[in-house]
Amino acid sequence: MLGLGVESTAHTFSCAVLEKKGKKGKILSDVRKIYRPPEGEGIHPREASRHHIENSSTVLSECLAEADITIKDLDIVSYAAGPGLGPCLRVGAVVARSLASYYKIPIYPVNHALGHIELGKLLTGAQNPLVLLVSGGHTMLLAFLNKQWRVFGETLDITLGQLLDQFGRSIGFASPCGKNIEQLASSTTNYVTLPYSVKGNDVSFSGLLSATKSISSKSKADACFSLQETAFAMISEAVERALSFTQKKELMVVGGVAANKRLSDMLQNVCKRHNAKFFVVPLKYAGDCGSQICWTGLLESQVKKGISLENTFVTQSWRLDSVKIDY
Ligand code: AMP
Ligand code: MG
Repeated sequence: MLGLGVESTAHTFSCAVLEKKGKKGKILSDVRKIYRPPEGEGIHPREASRHHIENSSTVLSECLAEADITIKDLDIVSYAAGPGLGPCLRVGAVVARSLASYYKIPIYPVNHALGHIELGKLLTGAQNPLVLLVSGGHTMLLAFLNKQWRVFGETLDITLGQLLDQFGRSIGFASPCGKNIEQLASSTTNYVTLPYSVKGNDVSFSGLLSATKSISSKSKADACFSLQETAFAMISEAVERALSFTQKKELMVVGGVAANKRLSDMLQNVCKRHNAKFFVVPLKYAGDCGSQICWTGLLESQVKKGISLENTFVTQSWRLDSVKIDY
């Protein structure tokens, strides 16, 4: 089976082609163009969607050329139908819908968060993990039970990615800022006490964001280091409690923030204490990409015939724990 996946939920427009043989999946191509807002600013949904429109045809043709196939070779096309920014989501949906309608290819809407998890499982080999999804749009702890991903903890306000990006922008980095913060943080070990807020198994980052901004005028490096130590310790506490509660023997970290080495170090220690295997999605596939959407669409095609074009909606706030999984 050959599938095309289209991702356009936020900053990234990406198309990927994957081949599925039995349970095995192979990435034949994954092409991305990322919208970069001006320094100090966040994503402007209309500007990002304009970026996606302008780049969509190039990304699609490069993706097909790299996979060495034509549109007619495709068995299915899938697109990220949410959650995400409305104007951005609509670009991916239009691209997928046009291909599906003109070439008569079955079409599959895919939940973006599920895409992160399914590609993570394919690439790491994790079987039945507790999942930590940490990205620009999500901070969630999840475990699979009775055909659904159940939430065992999440952020009560902003996500871990937003915390890093909003703080990074306040000290002059261009979004996304996680990598710059990680680099600057590694230049010091001077910890400044910051508010630590874990409520039950949920976390809250907005107070931490304000407090970190207020200490950053003294030393940006100390602020970056202390921010990472505090936020990642909060996440680690929630992960540890969820591991203990669910008795899972695997932890898998997915989403853009999974690229952070310090976060992985802390979580690896938690896993050691609980005899759990630690998996982290490969760096190249941590952030948003078409492969996530394509692989999930291919999995769904095992049990569904695709949906009619009239039902190819996008849903900005489509929660993962509302998705029924039958494959
Ligand atoms: P996604 O929404 O999955 O594409 O993830 C994007 C988020 O990942 C942004 O908030 C980035 O700042 C964050 N990110 C990317 N690389 C790193 C890193 N090395 N450390 C921490 N956060 C990162
Ligand atoms: Mg994402």
